[in-house]
Amino acid sequence: MESDKHQAERKTLDERAKMTELERIRHSCAHVMATAILRLWPDAQFAAGPPVENGFYYDVDLQHRISPEDFPKIEEEMKREIKANRVFEKIVVTREQAMKDAQSGRLGGLRERPAPSKFKIGNLEDIPEGEPISYFKNGDFIDLCAGPHVMRTGNIGAFRLTSVASAYYKGDEKNPQLQRIYGTAFKNKTELEAYFTMVEEAKKRDHRKIGQEMGLFAIDTEFVGPGLPLWLPKGAAIVEELERLAKETEFAAGYVRVKTPHIAKEKMYLTSGHLPKLYAESMFPPMEFREKQLTGEFAGAERIYQQAASAKQDIELDEEESWLIEHYNELREKRTPGTELSDESREYLASLPSDKAKEAVNCAMERFLVDLGRLSMKDKAEAMLPPIERYYLKAMNCPHHHRIFAAEPRSYRDLPLRLAEYGTNYRYEQSGELFGLMRVRSLNMNDAHIYCQPEKFTEEFNAVNELYLKYFKIFGLEKYVMRFSTHDPKRLGEKFVNEPELWIQTENMVRDVLKSSGINYVEVPNEAAFYGPKIDVQVWSAIGREFSIATNQVDFAVPKRFGLVYRDRDNTDKTPLCIHRAPLGTHERFIGFLIEHYAGNFPLWLAPEQVRVLTIGDDPPLVDYAKSTVAELRDNMVRASGDYGTDPIKAKIANAEQAKVHTMLVIGARDMAAHAVSVRLHGKGNVGAKPKGQVVAEILAAIKERLA
Ligand SMILES: [Zn+2]
Ligand SMILES: [Zn+2]
Repeated sequence: MESDKHQAERKTLDERAKMTELERIRHSCAHVMATAILRLWPDAQFAAGPPVENGFYYDVDLQHRISPEDFPKIEEEMKREIKANRVFEKIVVTREQAMKDAQSGRLGGLRERPAPSKFKIGNLEDIPEGEPISYFKNGDFIDLCAGPHVMRTGNIGAFRLTSVASAYYKGDEKNPQLQRIYGTAFKNKTELEAYFTMVEEAKKRDHRKIGQEMGLFAIDTEFVGPGLPLWLPKGAAIVEELERLAKETEFAAGYVRVKTPHIAKEKMYLTSGHLPKLYAESMFPPMEFREKQLTGEFAGAERIYQQAASAKQDIELDEEESWLIEHYNELREKRTPGTELSDESREYLASLPSDKAKEAVNCAMERFLVDLGRLSMKDKAEAMLPPIERYYLKAMNCPHHHRIFAAEPRSYRDLPLRLAEYGTNYRYEQSGELFGLMRVRSLNMNDAHIYCQPEKFTEEFNAVNELYLKYFKIFGLEKYVMRFSTHDPKRLGEKFVNEPELWIQTENMVRDVLKSSGINYVEVPNEAAFYGPKIDVQVWSAIGREFSIATNQVDFAVPKRFGLVYRDRDNTDKTPLCIHRAPLGTHERFIGFLIEHYAGNFPLWLAPEQVRVLTIGDDPPLVDYAKSTVAELRDNMVRASGDYGTDPIKAKIANAEQAKVHTMLVIGARDMAAHAVSVRLHGKGNVGAKPKGQVVAEILAAIKERLA
């Protein structure tokens, strides 16, 4: 049994009100499942039973280990409950009443029981003071629940139990381990069956399986590390094609390309706000070191340090000296203009006579400490060493791009400035969360940052959306939705930067563009990025499975933190807005998605092996003719190869089909005599002989136009 880490957070009342009909059906089905389990095992203790992506679960504590063999009898009881078509009755109670019922084992039960409803007591305690407390009751089953539910159990159209996992109560491993029973429900049987057909098909199209069969990527956990995919030549071919697509499209749309290093100093992320807290968990720990080349004030410090280490001349320090040593490194780090001193440092500096304080701020601290003269050699040397530098692997490209913006003076005439880069990011995902190409630790992002005047935002944002629609067409994505995440005013200054007016202003701008462009979108409160509203782009693969592939963000806060300005028409300095956009997401996730979408049968322009020329026999003139065909294609950058051996043509075709080669050109004596080739398409079979020149021209055109 796998431990389940996906703990659904307690929903707010707002979120509950927005639950879709399908979510209500699924959550209602969780109550019905609990009812059925209690009929079979009356002492079952229930914890939480929310709807989740693709279904629902309910956590239960029970002596009996529920296994899939138990599902038929649980489902039997559930059907009975649905057939009885009981009303989901909402009962509002006082906290005292609820506590009394929980103590008597009545909550999450069919009747009062000897043992209290221990998890419901915990859930009750989580309900904020002032929030109404309610039960939902179907038949004898009463649950502590804020709803919402469907009207009657009979509204649950069709359901199935799917799996069992283990999970800790409230997701905390200090709490008891529970059994998490998963199921799913739909409006009707047709939708339920379509869902399971899709799940079966998705298994066949699993990007990890196809990726291995086709030799697209490898994950070498022993030598390279988990979550760090290696692109094999065939996978790299797809990577390069996507990158070419992005380059061409962005070039036409007025982007300029930049290149940035994979690491940056801590100061970068303290300034962006990703550190110290907001994003720290998703970043790899820093690399810490002192610069080895000692220059100027630090020269010779290492030598002194070595001497001191053996001499060990310890001496008594007065209070002020001790404090200075203790806080020395901090003071030195904080001296950089533009960064802030800690409160403690500030207080101390304020307490110093002003000339001394000035000296400290300017960080002539080295000399100051040495001049004290009574410090040990070791302390002197330590004081003279260069500070410890902290570098981070970049988890996002924006800060680097911001520094590119800052590298030159900017005028309104330079805007919009659209900086594009397929940037490599590193994010620390827990090893248990890693999954093939979909959740990784190194990500190649189709990134760009558009710096624009606020008045140009609509135009720029529209252009970004156009880009998406263009890509959707190329990849044949018919169904998509843009999830527009906004802030929650109650969490300003905590989860979201405290700029109430800018939030409203920017969100209105985004909403207006989405509305007027007729793009399919939904609005999701409380899920914005900390610096601005966010749009997640969700697409459905050819088999109807949903993927989150890309994110756009509007940033009104971080450019300000970096002090980015442009000189406007009126000769004043203004802060630009920044649009973060990555329509093709990351290579990892996007190719993972494409593998499933195409089931590995990539269109010609993306196919790792585009053309294979197969000879009927190995007659030398025939082989020469075949080789010249391959050469002509390769001269035009087509990924073409030849199979000229003695194998029977049937076997050669079978091999090429197996490798999912897009186009096979079969050449026999008759083809050669007619300066022709016989064309065969993967999965489609023979499409007939054509003049060689025409076939080559058609292949080149199909690649150039990126035909599906
Ligand atoms: Zn409920
Ligand atoms: Zn960004």
